Amino acid sequence: MTAQIIDGAAIAARLRVQVAEEVAGRVAAGRRAPGLATVLVGDNPASQTYVRSKRKACAEAGIESFPHELPATASQREVEALVQELNADPRVHGILVQLPLPAGLDEEKILAGVSLEKDVDGFHPINIGRLSMKGREPLFTPCTPAGCMVLLEEAGAQFKGAQAVVLGRSNIVGLPAAMLLLRRDATLTICHSRSRDLAAICRTADILIAAVGRAEMVRGDWVKPGAFVIDVGINRVEDATRKSGYRLVGDVAFDEVKDVAGALTPVPGGVGPMTIAMLLRNTLRGAELADARGE
Ligand code: NAP
Repeated sequence: MTAQIIDGAAIAARLRVQVAEEVAGRVAAGRRAPGLATVLVGDNPASQTYVRSKRKACAEAGIESFPHELPATASQREVEALVQELNADPRVHGILVQLPLPAGLDEEKILAGVSLEKDVDGFHPINIGRLSMKGREPLFTPCTPAGCMVLLEEAGAQFKGAQAVVLGRSNIVGLPAAMLLLRRDATLTICHSRSRDLAAICRTADILIAAVGRAEMVRGDWVKPGAFVIDVGINRVEDATRKSGYRLVGDVAFDEVKDVAGALTPVPGGVGPMTIAMLLRNTLRGAELADARGE
C-alpha cells in the first residue's frame, strides 16, 4: 500500500484564506477586526520563532496583533497582571500565553487567569474540562489537536466505532486529541511512557496520532495496513548534508509507514501549519463571542 500523503500545508492555507475572508467581511460590516494578544516570557528561541510566525499569520488574515514580551525575570504577579489587563481590553479577543513558561512561574495559575472567552489556546481548565465531559461544549478547542481532527476528516477517516490510539498524554496535544476522538465515538487507547508493548497496541489502530517527541519511534511494522496516521512530532536529527546541521523529522518513520498506512501526514508540512490556521480560526471565534456579548 502507498499512503495518501495528507497535505497539511495546503489544507491550512485554504483555512487561512477562509478566515481572512470572514475577517474582511466583518470589518466591511463595521465590526471590529479580531485581535490576538501574545504573551512571551523569557528568550526561548523556539518560542520567539513560534510567536513571530503566529503574528505574521495574523497580519495576513487581517487579525490585529498585540505582542507583549516580558523578561525571563518577570514575576508571577507581573505576568498575571498583564493577563488581567488583556482580559479587560475589548480590542483583544484571544490571549495566547506562549509555553513553556520560564521555571519558577506557575503555569497552571497563569492559564487559569485567562478569560474563558479569550482562551484561544483552549488550555483553560474549564475549557479542557468541558472538552472531556459528555454533553458539554468547550468555547475553544486546543489548536494542534483540532488541526489533527481536520486533517483526519479531510483524508476521509471514519471515527464512529474506529479503534483510535493516541501516543502521548500531554495537556497540549495527547490528552485533548484523545478527548476529541472520544467525542467522535472512536474507541480510544491512550499510551504514554509507562505503556507496555506499544507496537502491539499501535497495530490495533485504525486511527493513530503520534505526539511523543521521539524521532521516528513509530515503525512500519507498528501500523495496521490502511490506517490513518497523524504525526504531530517535531524532532531535530543531525544531518551533515544540511547547512543548519540538522533536519526535522516526526515521531513516525515516514519512509516505512508510507508503504503500510492508508493516509499519513508528513513532517514538516502536516500538522504544524494546521496549528496556526486553527489559532486564527479560534481568534475569529473569540471576536464572534464578543459580538454575541454585545461588546
Ligand atoms: P510532551 O509534553 O513532552 O509529552 C510527550 C508525551 O509522550 C508524554 O505523554 C510522554 O509520556 C509520552 N512519551 C514520551 N516518550 C515516550 C515513549 N518512549 N513511549 C511512549 N510514550 C512516550 O510533548 P508534547 O508537547 O505533547 O509534544 C509532542 C511532540 O509534538 C513534540 O515533538 C512536539 O515538538 C510536537 N508538537 C508539535 C506541534 C505542532 O504544531 N506540530 C505542537 C505541539 C507539539 P508521559 O506522560 O508518561 O511522560
